[in-house]
Amino acid sequence: MRAKFVAGNWKMYKTAAEGAALATAIRNGLRLRPNVEVAVCPPFTALQAVGRAIAGSPVALGAQNLHPDPEGAHTGEISAAMLKEHGCVYVILGHSERRREFGETDAFINAKARAALAAGLTPIVCVGETREEREAGRTEAVLTAQVQGSLAGLGGQLPALVIAYEPVWAIGTGLTATPEQAQSAHAHIRRLLAGLGGETAATQTRILYGGSVKPDNAADLFSQPDIDGGLIGGASLKADSFLAIVHSA
Ligand code: PEP
Repeated sequence: MRAKFVAGNWKMYKTAAEGAALATAIRNGLRLRPNVEVAVCPPFTALQAVGRAIAGSPVALGAQNLHPDPEGAHTGEISAAMLKEHGCVYVILGHSERRREFGETDAFINAKARAALAAGLTPIVCVGETREEREAGRTEAVLTAQVQGSLAGLGGQLPALVIAYEPVWAIGTGLTATPEQAQSAHAHIRRLLAGLGGETAATQTRILYGGSVKPDNAADLFSQPDIDGGLIGGASLKADSFLAIVHSA
């Protein structure tokens, strides 16, 4: 059985001091059932402080991006080894905000996923369609291109990563995919995983839902058969709402 997993994507919010306070509140309020995992992904500058705040607790640390090269002349970038050094276990890759704002392609995300896996980090690879793509009936075609492109050649390694289905129209908008819409997209992604890595990849790889998950809609989403938890943006910035979502898993 796949363990449920809830991760908070703090985006460009929280200084190191604010992040440590939030992480401490999450740690102190957490009542974790077996088979549920939790992570927080603060900005790079808060990794160390948040890492200290959650040390020895079940809360794992994640980052929000990396560069595929081990080192080099890449101003403003950060490597997998640098994230490992700060205690990161997870790294979010290919978030729609990075695809949109920084032109990240599936091939580049694929290179990042390979670098993360080689360093022993668990990538959380994000995919999802825009509102225009959904309205044009292209949701499955878009997911197919993104999943096959960003996970190309990873076959047997697929269970070592996590996928986040995040419909772009639901991110930060207050609009949430219905549990049925999300389940249908997750089932499609699982079929794609079977094509890429066989039955093991399809049954073992976790697929999170992200897009305006809140305490009042989390349980319905997480109870769908192919939804293995959530990637939480806005609601992960307050301990009480993040904890309520984690506890509903
Ligand atoms: C996200 O950006 O990963 C996300 C899911 O954001 P929100 O929960 O705010 O929609």
